[in-house]
Amino acid sequence: MNDNTAEPTAPAPPREVPVLVSRSSRVGHSEDPINTVTRHLPSPDTPYQCQVCRDSREWPCGPSDTALHQLENAGLRRSDFVPDYLHDRLPRPATRPPSWPRETP
Ligand SMILES: [Zn+2]
Repeated sequence: MNDNTAEPTAPAPPREVPVLVSRSSRVGHSEDPINTVTRHLPSPDTPYQCQVCRDSREWPCGPSDTALHQLENAGLRRSDFVPDYLHDRLPRPATRPPSWPRETP
């Protein structure tokens, strides 16, 4: 079998897909953390550095970190919004108290 045959290859799936959120959801009320995370992702040239901030600190930069926490607070998984290779760099999820404090009337 010859691996060098010039068979047409199927187009690769897109690396990013758009996400729509309802304005009435918790994410919709916040300052668009999904756009912030997307905008501040590293470029392929500098895989561990934000392409907007370009500071000396490696990804996640400050805006990314804040937006990722907003997503988490809205009940979303941060790993769903960043490429696989950055998952190891995600800050550890905030530890929640054993039980939510009860509201007193
Ligand atoms: Zn940044």
